[in-house]
Amino acid sequence: MQKSTLIKHWQEKCLIKDNLVLEAFKKVKRENFVLKQYRKQAYEDVPLPLGFKATISQPTTVLIMTQALEAQQDNKILEIGTASGYQAALLSVLVGDKGKIYTTEIVPELVEFARKNLKKFKNVEVIHTDGSKGYKKEAPYDAIIFTVAVPKIENIILEQLKDPGICLAPVGDKELQELFKIKKENLQLKKESLGYFQFVPLQGKYGFK
Ligand code: SAH
Repeated sequence: MQKSTLIKHWQEKCLIKDNLVLEAFKKVKRENFVLKQYRKQAYEDVPLPLGFKATISQPTTVLIMTQALEAQQDNKILEIGTASGYQAALLSVLVGDKGKIYTTEIVPELVEFARKNLKKFKNVEVIHTDGSKGYKKEAPYDAIIFTVAVPKIENIILEQLKDPGICLAPVGDKELQELFKIKKENLQLKKESLGYFQFVPLQGKYGFK
């Protein structure tokens, strides 16, 4: 499938809610974030394996999550689960030169892979750490995005979110998760479900046992 065919499919299904996200999607080449043997499938609407039990998420899932995160110019955003770096690259375009993306990955080989893929994206920093605890050093963030399944959204994460701020996380068991958008505003948390998804399970301190 071509990128244009995928975009047409999104338009037909009325999935595009934010034109800036569509522009970012047009700009970032997904083929540069997949393994060589999958380049021809880069615009199939499927997750693709990256090795080390990781996958680059399905494009439609990435579209839905990126729109829900409401990233603005100059935002500082934390991602948990860098893998290929594709999600971080899209966010990099959306926050612009003065914004910053901190993205955490627990598998050293994937840290290296993502750093290579993200060379051109100067406002992205890939951090080799257990992101299940967030990343206190640069907190608070305008938005926090888990691109990995979590058993629970921990307070240690919500404490690292600004007010106002948005946190996105797929919460559930290892097989199936409900994607939640949590809005922090005026010291309150509002929770909204965006439907069911399947992500790779979180490892680390607050991950699955
Ligand atoms: N956003 C990625 C896809 C994420 S796949 C992309 O655009 O390609 C989920 C990733 O989360 C995997 O690479 C996995 O190794 C990583 N992961 C799992 N537990 C983690 C943890 N505790 N901290 C950071 N990364 C973690």
